Amino acid sequence: MATAVVWNPACRHHYGGAGHPERPQRFEAVLEALRRPELATRLTWVEAPPAARSAIERVHPPEYVDMLDALAARGGGALDADTFLGPRSWESVLASAGVARAAGARGQTEGSAFAITRPPGHHALAARAMGFCFLNNVVLAARHAQALGCARALVVDWDVHHGNGTQALVERDPSIRFVSMHQYPWYPGTGTTDERGVGNVFNVPRPGGLPRATYFRDFLAGVDAALDGWNPDILLISAGFDSLAGDPLGEFTLEPDDISRWTAALRERMGKRPVVGVLEGGYRLDLLAAGVVAHVLALS
Ligand SMILES: [Zn+2]
Repeated sequence: MATAVVWNPACRHHYGGAGHPERPQRFEAVLEALRRPELATRLTWVEAPPAARSAIERVHPPEYVDMLDALAARGGGALDADTFLGPRSWESVLASAGVARAAGARGQTEGSAFAITRPPGHHALAARAMGFCFLNNVVLAARHAQALGCARALVVDWDVHHGNGTQALVERDPSIRFVSMHQYPWYPGTGTTDERGVGNVFNVPRPGGLPRATYFRDFLAGVDAALDGWNPDILLISAGFDSLAGDPLGEFTLEPDDISRWTAALRERMGKRPVVGVLEGGYRLDLLAAGVVAHVLALS
């Protein structure tokens, strides 16, 4: 079956300032890569609406959403040292949240889906934007999937940075398990092995520069620890491509082929159960494009 590629053109608008690595060209690079004619029969394109306020409030408190909304109405501004709301960024944030939620639903009907989310989401805490992230897209997708009947959700995160926001949002909820492999010590500084939540958090911190086979093996070992005696109804992947060799924001050594093999290994573990990729980081455009294509082609 074809993989649903879920998107919204407003994800292009977010602009974090001159020289910011999380730039609109990332969105264009992903679209261009997935629109190649030879992929046409493998993908079903789905344009998702922006997330409604009520949907966002399943994950983020109303006061926080009010604050972002008011900042956007004033033309934007800084939320932390590297997280800026530009004049049209709020449109992208809401579109990105809607895209993630729709992918969580499409995965259930079509078996697999990929969300072209921009800005990314895995650093966003319940009431705090950080690390280029405003709303936590993958948790919004997981909560929506749960509301539609997937009781247990596994979230895995191979972005080179720890998914601290995702961890914080799920670490007291045994219905979601979270596996993150990330460079450590590195931004944002969290993600040690002793952060276990209620036994539902599985961190795999690793230094940069190790052989790619080590990262490949250790991430899947973390996934298998999470799956030991526990069967999720859906798998969501925080798919960050800054873990590829050559990305300017990370020092991991993975190649697009590793992304392809990871995705296939996760698909194999899930059988017919839904697998949904949600875009996170990835800051060298050619690597981002290659990683996304490798991931999406192995999803179904
Ligand atoms: Zn990252």
